[in-house]
Amino acid sequence: MHWTSHDIRLANRFAVLRHIITEGQVTRPEITAATGLSLATVATLVSELLELGMLAEVGQQESAGGRPRTVLAVRPRRGVLVGVDVTETYVHVELFDLNLGVLARAHRVLAPSQSRVEQVLEHVVSAVEEGIARCEVERDTVLGVGVSVPGQVDREGGVTVYAANWDWADVPMRDLISQRIRLPVYLDNPAKASTVAELWFGASRGYDDVAVLTLATGVGAGLAVGGSLYRGADNGAGEWGHTTLVLDGRPCRCGSRGCVETYVGAPGILQHIRELAPDSGLLQGSHANGNGTPAKRTPGNGTPAKSTGDQTATVAALAEALAAQDPRAGEVAAVTARHLGVAIANLVNLVNPQLVVLSGWVANRLGRYLLDEVCAVVAREALPGPHAATRIALCPIENPVTLGAATFALEGFLGNVRDWG
Ligand SMILES: [Zn+2]
Repeated sequence: MHWTSHDIRLANRFAVLRHIITEGQVTRPEITAATGLSLATVATLVSELLELGMLAEVGQQESAGGRPRTVLAVRPRRGVLVGVDVTETYVHVELFDLNLGVLARAHRVLAPSQSRVEQVLEHVVSAVEEGIARCEVERDTVLGVGVSVPGQVDREGGVTVYAANWDWADVPMRDLISQRIRLPVYLDNPAKASTVAELWFGASRGYDDVAVLTLATGVGAGLAVGGSLYRGADNGAGEWGHTTLVLDGRPCRCGSRGCVETYVGAPGILQHIRELAPDSGLLQGSHANGNGTPAKRTPGNGTPAKSTGDQTATVAALAEALAAQDPRAGEVAAVTARHLGVAIANLVNLVNPQLVVLSGWVANRLGRYLLDEVCAVVAREALPGPHAATRIALCPIENPVTLGAATFALEGFLGNVRDWG
């Protein structure tokens, strides 16, 4: 990407605001120290943000021997940011104040049959409208709506380029949503959104080189390098879920075989259950052998399961069984952890992160049961050098995708403000 002076100013503006949001109350010299910007640049950016009403001067702090320093804080009520997490199984919406405190939520469950663009769009629009109504704010205080959609996203064009689990290709989601809700919309994918939320508020806070793994129906990685999100040439970096883990392995929805996703994504975990414990009662709903004969499959055969119907219930049942120390569930967890550990070891050797974070709804449910085995496998499989620098942690944020999507809306708003000075 070629950076213009406008891009650099926008990035600096955003960096200053980010520091104030994540720290609460700060002085100009503290922002200077944290961002590496000059005191003069910080002074200019702060006065611009004060003029926009996004910051307030909230007090004075004594400084040893010098003049008292003005303490700055965000004005949380200056605007509302909306974060939308669109997944294959639900749409979750959260509305935030400018400190990124949650003001309201709305949720829609997506049935497996509801994967057409217009059906998903309808759920997104109605959930956003419900959230705004719950907030009881004027519509013009909503500064923007950040939307995470699964798969590969052309962020600049606002287009879902490819969503393997939905057979979507080149869907102009940003325009479709903004035409309906009449607000600025910013599009990206869950791995990118979670990574930013992690860097701001999660286990990754204070780290520069981080890999945030989203384990859900699909699987992806968000990479932060030097404290910033790494997007690659066209926002396609982090498709770790479609790197090959097993040659000639399970068929993947991307058309390839043996992808990481087919062993550690929710449908992959369901497949482990079908292979290892088909009669365990762990499979929920229509996957659960409705005709009484377990669908016995050998690895590498069969076709990818189209239905996403019972992933949520099955993963929940697996978590419950693991909590009760059920040995069949333990086998499923062990095989999942082994695949995940090898895939993470590959990533550790390639990227050498300080921290690997397990995020996404599958990690929320199962992460605590997988973590020890994953760490043991990574220790065995990664080279000692990169491994020594790496820690593996669970994401502590409840909804990192909506939070990260809201930061994209904030970034977009700052970029849209008429260029100052
Ligand atoms: Zn794949």
